[in-house]
Amino acid sequence: MINRRKLLGQLAALPLLGSFFSPARASATSSIATPIGRDYFKELGVRTFINAAGTYTSMTGSLLRQEAVDAYNYAAQQYVNLDELQDKVGARIAELIGCEAATVTAGAASAITLGTAGVLTGNDPKKASRIPTDLTGMKTEVILQKAHKIGYAHAIQNCGVKLVIVETQKELEAAINEKTAMLWFLNANNNLGKIKYKGFLEVAKKYNIPSFNDCAADVPPVENLWKYTDMGFDLVAFSGGKGMRGPQSTGLLLGRKDLIEAARLSAPPRGDTVGRGMKVNKEEILAMMIALENYLQRDHDKDWQLWDKQIRHIAGTVGKIEGVETEIHIPDIANHVPSLKIRWDEAMIKTTPNELRQDLRAGHPSIETVGGAESINITTWMLNPGEERIVAQRIKDLLSKASS
Ligand SMILES: *Cc1c(COP(=O)(O)O)cnc(C)c1O
Repeated sequence: MINRRKLLGQLAALPLLGSFFSPARASATSSIATPIGRDYFKELGVRTFINAAGTYTSMTGSLLRQEAVDAYNYAAQQYVNLDELQDKVGARIAELIGCEAATVTAGAASAITLGTAGVLTGNDPKKASRIPTDLTGMKTEVILQKAHKIGYAHAIQNCGVKLVIVETQKELEAAINEKTAMLWFLNANNNLGKIKYKGFLEVAKKYNIPSFNDCAADVPPVENLWKYTDMGFDLVAFSGGKGMRGPQSTGLLLGRKDLIEAARLSAPPRGDTVGRGMKVNKEEILAMMIALENYLQRDHDKDWQLWDKQIRHIAGTVGKIEGVETEIHIPDIANHVPSLKIRWDEAMIKTTPNELRQDLRAGHPSIETVGGAESINITTWMLNPGEERIVAQRIKDLLSKASS
């Protein structure tokens, strides 16, 4: 906790925050940013909704913090050199988080591709121009556990490498050879894999192979931002647009300075690279940094108490209906926030979770929830305060109607 206290102390002492956004500029930008009188989504006929689901890409993730919106609008009005901005923002983020180096990427998936590219190329731009089609002179295999092989591992394969799947620590050691570029870890599945942090990092250090930990959805808690680089992972990725509520199209790549510099060789503005399509513009880069500052400065206990109160309100309201069962739980890692499952006896209440989800979506205001055929699943961390009442009342009304 010394780490965090030091950080927050640093933030409180930041002289820049005040002068950075002078009141004059803030008001000038906000009048540009808020064109009164047009409702763009309505004009387009695009449905907007209350997000009682969570941070899902298909639902456009999270809502930007106001500070991040202001930073975005500030940046939209001046030119800067892209590399210079990335250098300075990266240094600031590394200082705030307390890791060796950092860079803003176009999401956690982009951080995985760029991080992998950096591991392959080192500081050789010629190699970067040959990924993914010609890996001559580069290592070509990335090892991961079977329980960690999810769709996002595709982001590693963008670099043209082969994924080698193992289950036990013995298999991991046996799979290592002169072609092994990197060992990849999915933080959310630490409990599911047979190889845990300690064994995984022991092997990585023993064979001197870079280790990567995908922590995309793993704040809160805030400490996770530095936990895994402190633990010894060489590279760590976070999504910018999940718990931190930065731009959806941003992420953070954190870790060893040499590897972050190498990853940048495959990032824009450099054109002949695997990462050229992963551009992050100046507005997003700055907004990400400010979202991070905001996130670090927040009262996390207070945020948690609000989410918890909201989830209890919904559970309490719908739980009064006969035949309805509610269960509040908190996932260990990834989306570690108060979460609610609502189930009911379909002999008493004549609707299914799929039908109810559809009815919630079709109502006004539209409400998005998740879950399978067994339950309606809800989180409250992406709600605007007060929306929990609308969600609770609507679910109660629909379930009551179906039970009469
Ligand atoms: C969300 C997520 C990603 C992708 O993150 P983006 O920031 O959307 O690119 C990658 N890995 C895991 C485990 C995730 O949850």
